[in-house]
Amino acid sequence: MKTILTGDRPTGSLHLGHYVGSLKTRVALQREYATYVLIADVQALTDHADEPELVRRNVFEVALDYLAVGIDPSAATIVVQSGVPELAELTVYYLNLVTVARLGRNPTVKDEMQQKGFGADVPAGFLVYPVSQAADITAFKADVVPVGEDQLPMIEQTVEIVRRFNRLYGPVFVEPTALVSKHGRLPGTDGQSKMGKSIGNAIFLSDPTDVVAQKVMGMFTDPGHARAELPGTVEGNPVFSYLEAFEPDAGAVEDLKLRYRAGGLGDVALKRRLIDVLEAFLGPIRARRIEFARDPAAVAQVLREGTARGRAVAHQTLGEVRRALHLDG
Ligand code: ATP
Ligand code: MG
Repeated sequence: MKTILTGDRPTGSLHLGHYVGSLKTRVALQREYATYVLIADVQALTDHADEPELVRRNVFEVALDYLAVGIDPSAATIVVQSGVPELAELTVYYLNLVTVARLGRNPTVKDEMQQKGFGADVPAGFLVYPVSQAADITAFKADVVPVGEDQLPMIEQTVEIVRRFNRLYGPVFVEPTALVSKHGRLPGTDGQSKMGKSIGNAIFLSDPTDVVAQKVMGMFTDPGHARAELPGTVEGNPVFSYLEAFEPDAGAVEDLKLRYRAGGLGDVALKRRLIDVLEAFLGPIRARRIEFARDPAAVAQVLREGTARGRAVAHQTLGEVRRALHLDG
C-alpha cells in the first residue's frame, strides 16, 4: 500500500480553499493509501512565535475540521507535529543538504515573506520551513502528497533533498509526487490572492450561515459590472470560481456564466445563488463539527493515538537515517 502525507498549519480554522485543494482528496483516498495527516504546530511557530497559545488552540480547531469533513481516524492517522521530535532531528540533517541561496529562490516563500512584510528580518525558521516539510514528508516515506498549488515548490525541494541524501548516504528514501486537485488555488473573497487563513479573505468551514452570507455579499466580482443589465466578466471573478468548485450541477454553472456574460444577471442574484450552494455544502459539515466539539476528550484521544502511531513510523525512519549517517554509535 502506498503512503500519503499531507497537513495544515494550525494558524486558524480551515477554509473552503483547504477543502478543494487538499481535504477532499484526502477523504477520497484515505482507505486506498496509508494516510498520515499532520497538524504542523511546530511549523506554525515559524511565523507565529509570539502567539504560541493561538497555535495550541488551533490544533483542536483543525482536528475538528478534519473530523467534520470526513477524515476518519480509523482509516487515516492524525499526527500532531510537536509530538514527533524525530521530525525536528531529520530537519537538522537536511539543512546541510540545501543552500541558503536555494531557499531564497523558493517562490512561495518569497510571496509569503512579502505578504508578511518580513524583508531582511525574516525569521531563520521561516526561511527554512520547506526543509522541515521535506522532513515531514520523508519521515513517513510518503509517495503522494495531496496539496494546493502553492505547495509545488515544497515538493520540488523535497525531491532535491531526497536525491542528494540517497546519493550521498545510500537509498533510504523514495521521491514523493504532488497531487494537485482541479481547484489547486481557490482565490480569496477579495479576488486577489489565494484564500488563506491568515489573510482575512477566507470563508471558514466553521463559519455560521449569516457570516457566510455576509462574506459572500461582500465578495469582489467584476468591477466593470456596475448594473445587472450590463455584460459581466466570468474570468477572474471569484464568485464563479466558488460556484465551479461547490455547485455539483456543472450545467447550471455554465448556464449562469452564459447569462452573466450576456448581461441581465446581477451580482446580487448571483451571490444569492452562491450562498445557497455554499449552505448546502457547509450545513452538514457544520452540524458534524458541533457534534465532535461536544466531546473534546474524544478528540484529544484521537490526536494522542494518531501521534503515537505516527511517531513509531518516524522513529523507525530515523533509525535508518542515523545508520546511513554513521550516527548510530
Ligand atoms: P496560512 O495563511 O497560515 O499559511 P493557509 O490558508 O495557506 O494558511 P496552510 O496550512 O498553509 O493554509 O495550507 C495547508 C494546505 O492547504 C496546503 O496543501 C495548501 O496548498 C492548501 N491550501 C491552502 N489554501 C488554499 C487555497 N486557497 N486553494 C487551494 N489549496 C489551498
Ligand atoms: Mg500557507
